[in-house]
Amino acid sequence: MSIQRELPISIQSGPEPVGVPRIVIKPGKVRPFFGRHPWVLDSAVARIDGFVADGAEVDVVSHKGSWIARGLFNSRSRICTRLYSWQPGEALDTDFWHKRLTAAIELRKQLGYDQSEGAARLVYSEADGLSGLVVDRYADYLVVQVNALVMAERLDTIVPLLAELAAPRGILARAEGGTAKLEGLEFEMGLRWGVAPDGPVFITENGVRYGVDLGEGQKTGYYLDQRENRVAAAKYLHGCRVLDMFCYSGSFSLAALLHGGARETLGFDGSERAIALARAGAELNHAHAAHFEVADAFEALDELAAKGEKFGAVILDPPKFTRSRKNLNAALRAYHRINRMAVALLEPGGILVTCSCSGAVTSEDFLLMLAGVAQQTRRDIQVLEQRGASPDHPVSTTCLETEYLKCFICRVL
Ligand code: SAH
Repeated sequence: MSIQRELPISIQSGPEPVGVPRIVIKPGKVRPFFGRHPWVLDSAVARIDGFVADGAEVDVVSHKGSWIARGLFNSRSRICTRLYSWQPGEALDTDFWHKRLTAAIELRKQLGYDQSEGAARLVYSEADGLSGLVVDRYADYLVVQVNALVMAERLDTIVPLLAELAAPRGILARAEGGTAKLEGLEFEMGLRWGVAPDGPVFITENGVRYGVDLGEGQKTGYYLDQRENRVAAAKYLHGCRVLDMFCYSGSFSLAALLHGGARETLGFDGSERAIALARAGAELNHAHAAHFEVADAFEALDELAAKGEKFGAVILDPPKFTRSRKNLNAALRAYHRINRMAVALLEPGGILVTCSCSGAVTSEDFLLMLAGVAQQTRRDIQVLEQRGASPDHPVSTTCLETEYLKCFICRVL
């Protein structure tokens, strides 16, 4: 498994480096790492002092030899080192992971996200100082999403610690195909500890019950990041007929009906599996005014407009339209298009709940896109609330890539 990195290895006279191998950063590239950003790209590396195996601990130093941080190395990824500690002398051993996991789990307790029937993100990667590791709790089960090879190699340490700290019935591990490829990660998905659930796992979110499919669902099974936004949006929806576009398991609809007192909801998603989940959720909660259909959102929006349908509220929660700033304009055009179509379906004074989970699109980009929609539709759009992900998905100020979700609640005159 261990591969020697092909970057030039320095042959220096002078003292041998002590301790772990050292990754020497190019002059002019050190700032982000002194600034506690955890991703060292291979383009920032001048040389490596010593032999480094994939997954091994390394020290990251400036070209002048100043120690910056301790990290873990992976020659197969463009992120060749992930940084975990800026504390000189701190080893990345079992005690270290125990400390980081404890701090992460403590936060969720503090948030009151620890009810046994509930669900929460227990670990959110860089935002919890655990780059490459996501852990979601669904009632008695944990789903570990491994986004880095260095974390996959430590699962035998991390899984027992999670078992100790969160006392679940079972821990499942999964990796997302695209990320696994980027990381050179070969990974056996499935049960890692305890027992696997024998069907959907039932969770309660804001008093609404859902069955979550841990093996097959999108993400780790459910969109936990919108938890607080669903209730926040529901507050504006009393008596409304609500259109819920990109509804997945229907959580915005069910919150609108059960919390907000909406009159009726109509949800669309392109995935049949998602619609089956949404219908099961409506039944489970006796939400008879919730309707869900499989459809492409763009086509459904066109058809509704052609039929002259009107709604008191439209919710738009599309998938990521871009992964990078390179495709920003195309993504903004797509956001513009769906938002314009949504505005056209809104009654005067209607509520638009519009989201973007593309981290590459900033709040400002998104606001400017909405300004364009207002201009073209000749409707005033007032932003009532600018929201992000729930607080179990914190934003790391030194790794702003952790900020991705925008949820704007607007009134459209
Ligand atoms: N609102 C959901 C999460 C939506 S995630 C919630 O609160 O849980 C985005 C969803 O968009 C996914 O369920 C995906 O299946 C769906 N989707 C992606 N492309 C689509 C398209 N062109 N038309 C309709 N749905 C689409």
